[in-house]
Amino acid sequence: MRLEINGAFVELAIGDITDETSDAIVNAANSALAGGSGVDGAIHRAGGPQIMEECRKIGGCPTGTAVITTGGRLKAKYVIHTVGPIYEDGLQNEPKLLANAYKSSMALAIKHELKSVSFPSISTGAYGYPLQEAADVALKTVAEFLLSHGRPNNVRFVLFSQTAFDAYKSALEKLKTS
Ligand code: ADP
Repeated sequence: MRLEINGAFVELAIGDITDETSDAIVNAANSALAGGSGVDGAIHRAGGPQIMEECRKIGGCPTGTAVITTGGRLKAKYVIHTVGPIYEDGLQNEPKLLANAYKSSMALAIKHELKSVSFPSISTGAYGYPLQEAADVALKTVAEFLLSHGRPNNVRFVLFSQTAFDAYKSALEKLKTS
């Protein structure tokens, strides 16, 4: 499923982000860049120890910001590590922080002249962000970014389950009608 925005494309897929061939895949990291469970663990396992070595040198990444490393053994050339908010009650600035995680990742992709970037569903695993709300924030933020920048050319959301895919699909459909 795909939507064109300002000459760029937003695409939804079901799959494992470590298989992506985009210029960069995005990691849902923690602020210590310490590695962890979920997509973070999968990326470090598939990419090998070089990514963690680079993360250690960088040191950390506050919530809502992003940093970039190479992709190690991954097919993707780079990994953009960003940190989404831990969801508490929705009143702790969570939507803004989640939007910032997507925005800073996209900005970093542009800065490095990357044409394609693949995102997981940030914050909706261990960090507990309600899936549909997170999907709405993710797609709205990416759409607004593309409307003003027109790049990166291809933004893919790689969802790990049918449930996640359906939530993002519904968010994308809302965008089409808005
Ligand atoms: P967070 O701590 O930001 O919540 P998680 O890694 O716990 O991050 O979960 C984020 C999302 O990533 C979840 O929806 C989870 O199902 C998904 N996920 C886990 N492994 C993968 C993978 N290999 N590829 C794509 N998505 C994944």
